[in-house]
Amino acid sequence: MNITVLKFGGSSLKDKTSLKKIAALIRAHRSDKVIVLSALSGVTDRLAGFLQRYFQNATNHSKNVTAIPALINYLKERHQELMESFSVSEDVYQSLKENLDKLERLLYGIFYTEELTEKTQDLILSFGERFSVKILEAILRDEGVPAQSFEADKIGLITDSDFGDASALLDITSKNFKKRLFPLLHKNITPIISGFFGVDEAGHTTIFGRGGSDYTASVVSYALSAKELILYKDVNGFMSADPSIVPEAHLLRVLSYDEAAELAYFGAKIIHPKTIEPLKLKSIPLIIRNAFCPDEEGTRIQLHSSLTKDVVKSVVYGKDIAVLKIYGAGVGYKPGVLQEIISHITGQGINIKSVITAQTCINILLDKENLEKSYHSLIKTRIKTVDKIEQVSNIVLIGIVGEGLIKKRGLAARVFKAVSKEGVNVEMISAGASLVAYYFIVNQAQLEKTIRAIHKEFFP
Ligand code: ASP
Ligand code: MG
Repeated sequence: MNITVLKFGGSSLKDKTSLKKIAALIRAHRSDKVIVLSALSGVTDRLAGFLQRYFQNATNHSKNVTAIPALINYLKERHQELMESFSVSEDVYQSLKENLDKLERLLYGIFYTEELTEKTQDLILSFGERFSVKILEAILRDEGVPAQSFEADKIGLITDSDFGDASALLDITSKNFKKRLFPLLHKNITPIISGFFGVDEAGHTTIFGRGGSDYTASVVSYALSAKELILYKDVNGFMSADPSIVPEAHLLRVLSYDEAAELAYFGAKIIHPKTIEPLKLKSIPLIIRNAFCPDEEGTRIQLHSSLTKDVVKSVVYGKDIAVLKIYGAGVGYKPGVLQEIISHITGQGINIKSVITAQTCINILLDKENLEKSYHSLIKTRIKTVDKIEQVSNIVLIGIVGEGLIKKRGLAARVFKAVSKEGVNVEMISAGASLVAYYFIVNQAQLEKTIRAIHKEFFP
């Protein structure tokens, strides 16, 4: 079977017009297809914002129970309004009502118990996708495309139990999906699967992290050995630089899996960082397209990309990064110190993005939002040989990505010469850790200058 997986994100799920557009796109795909869908635009933000305000930050005084019916009403109106603009059968209204009732009960439950566990949090965040798949199913049927929607946890998208940032168990998920979905495809019925979440082996809903529907699409592609995956976005694809900083930046037509993974991990927030992994295992090509201009050429991501003369393909940046500098004589070579520090930080559920070590200082790169927490946990533990710990947060991480970059003589010299000509001081460098990327850190204030200087050097 020649299956194409098509994924649509929240930005293409806004109103009647945008839904009509994606229904037309789906109909135009003649081959066997499976759809993966995000929540309607803004819905997951609402759910996440609600939890943040009422259960994490709030003092008792500011908690207000009337916020629950207000949220439920918003969700009801948002979805009903769309349903009314298509001819939708009674059972779709019924399913919306059932899910809203369940969500409402959950919210009251945690409101009165004043307890929000990570399990419940994941379950609550998953509702946006449970609503949206039902609506698309109804619209497609209305447009004459036989379709059937599924909530991913109910058809066996099995994951580990890493709540908030789960990963799929690919083999068992493949078995479940083949059994459930192949018979439908044989009958020319298009399955629509909710993105963003799965279920662990104990039966609890788990989410893949914000933007995680891309990853669902990739897991589905793996599970069904799809011919290709097309992610419909609100941009054409990956660019040689952020066009808001470098207006003359160009679209990248082909990237390798490794290049795309590096770009996604640190800089360009175009795809969820875990998307590449399952695809690479089966060499399934990934195509990024603009849902609003579907005829434009997008970016194709596959096993190998073409080598360009200067090998550099893109310069990206990450603003949400911070460094924990851990000083002490010999921290870099004393056995066990690095391990102790790392396990302390990861033990708090904090993800370390990268580590750069020297004899006298270990530099831990993490997300800015985790800086304080890891600093305080380390200060408390008194690791031997550590003299001082410093937090650095007014920085940005610059990445230069391109297959073949590590082997290209003189490349680093060109990069750093171009940067230093602009008067930018490079505070830290990591080269050689990845075969396709260099990373370095500069002061936040010099971000734009740095990006422009490098882009100009390689794409004059
Ligand atoms: N709805 C989820 C989010 O907004 C997942 C996704 O859109 O990919 O993060
Ligand atoms: Mg999204």
